[in-house]
Amino acid sequence: MIISVIIPLYNEEDIIDEFHQRVLNAMTKTGDDFEVIYVDDGSTDNTLQKLLNYHKKDSRFKVLELSRNFGHQAAYTAGLNVTLGDYVCMLDGDLQDPPELIPEMYEKLSIGNYDIVYGKRISRKEKAGKRFFILLFHKIFSFINNVGAPDNVGNFGMMNHKAKEAFLMLKEKNRYLPGLRYFIGFRQTAIEYKRPERTRGKAKMNIKSLMQLAFDALFSLSKLPLKLAFVFGFTGLGLSLVGAVVVIIKKITGAAITGWTSMMLSLFFFGSVILIFLGVMGEYIFRIYKETQNRPVYFIRNYHTKDDKNQNS
Ligand code: UDP
Ligand code: MG
Repeated sequence: MIISVIIPLYNEEDIIDEFHQRVLNAMTKTGDDFEVIYVDDGSTDNTLQKLLNYHKKDSRFKVLELSRNFGHQAAYTAGLNVTLGDYVCMLDGDLQDPPELIPEMYEKLSIGNYDIVYGKRISRKEKAGKRFFILLFHKIFSFINNVGAPDNVGNFGMMNHKAKEAFLMLKEKNRYLPGLRYFIGFRQTAIEYKRPERTRGKAKMNIKSLMQLAFDALFSLSKLPLKLAFVFGFTGLGLSLVGAVVVIIKKITGAAITGWTSMMLSLFFFGSVILIFLGVMGEYIFRIYKETQNRPVYFIRNYHTKDDKNQNS
């Protein structure tokens, strides 16, 4: 059996030495063959140099160079597409996902009762503001997504070959992998873990890119944004009917006021509701546009592997 581990990396030179050592230890502990695919997502620091050194010393560590920075969901996808293993593991390269859990995940899958095991964070340490945003996202996501995906689950996880094949059949460009992984079904189980803070290096996902990811998740796996338009529309309609009755009664009883306030208020209210849902529509149109462009999610500049002589190595 071969285990493939995919690790996306973007400017992680501060942490990569320690990380590499811990991955090597964890993989050795599984007692099986393995390949580690380091996906360099267009790093501009020394990350790539370091990765190439590891590869030179131990060809089980392979390096997939993307042509520029494509974001970590794309980097995972690139890695998944080149894996050879019977089992594939997705692991962040910042030590927030402990590599030491890999043997446990592998054991769970190799018994054969499950096809996918994913890490579920029972606690996390991030700065208060970011943590609040992430927790809020997970709550909303697990509540409204149409596939029943659980909350507090990230990319960290392992799947067998069959599940990987299914996963790779999802060709959409707006990718939120934890949700898509849940979508494919199969027999899934969770391993709980505490997510530590990043000890070194800066988080590469800033609030903006996290928002982007949250939007990908919400828009691609839920139709709630569209439904909200109906809810608001009908609520507004109901309110204006009530308003109309009030206005007519006042007219009849001769107590009609000048009406400026109520008119301005309803103008503001319906104006903003309409704008919000024009935004929602725009978001869908943009996503449809992106899908129809059908651009690849990533480009590979180089794949350093000794297994395949046709590739650069
Ligand atoms: N990453 C990447 N490309 C990017 C941003 C991040 O490959 O554009 C990698 C990063 O090096 C790390 C993993 O994805 O290994 C998770 O990134 P980060 O810790 O910044 O994300 P967060 O923990 O905030 O979700
Ligand atoms: Mg992180």
